[in-house]
Amino acid sequence: MICPVCKKAMIVVEHHQIELDYCTSCQGVWFDSGELELFLESAELESPSLTIKNILDLPEVKLTHRQLKCPVCRRGMKETAIEEPSINIDICRRGDGLWFDGGELNGLLRQLASKLSTKASTEQRIITFIGEVFKAPE
Ligand SMILES: [Zn+2]
Ligand SMILES: [Zn+2]
Repeated sequence: MICPVCKKAMIVVEHHQIELDYCTSCQGVWFDSGELELFLESAELESPSLTIKNILDLPEVKLTHRQLKCPVCRRGMKETAIEEPSINIDICRRGDGLWFDGGELNGLLRQLASKLSTKASTEQRIITFIGEVFKAPE
């Protein structure tokens, strides 16, 4: 799959049978429909509001960057805010999947972790988790 930002080929990162497409140059991550739910579950951060269906229903926000095209259907994606303070993601209007710019996924995981628990160990676990999933290939 081609990165919607850099137009370079992404690498496939496998984690608990979930295949994510990850761009090593901009650190963006593409989730196919349904994969975000599975991914959050595997990080023990499942959040009922963060399903692709619910995210599709969220209001569109003013684009903070040029419009990105869905790497699957090539149509313009919509930008929407999934968490406060402002974690904006891009989602395919047909529900093919969603895109996190570099750093946004880490931001979301940290935010979910801090909501679930005030324990510093949770925060540390998430940082380790991110490091394990997105290890740069040798
Ligand atoms: Zn990229
Ligand atoms: Zn699409």
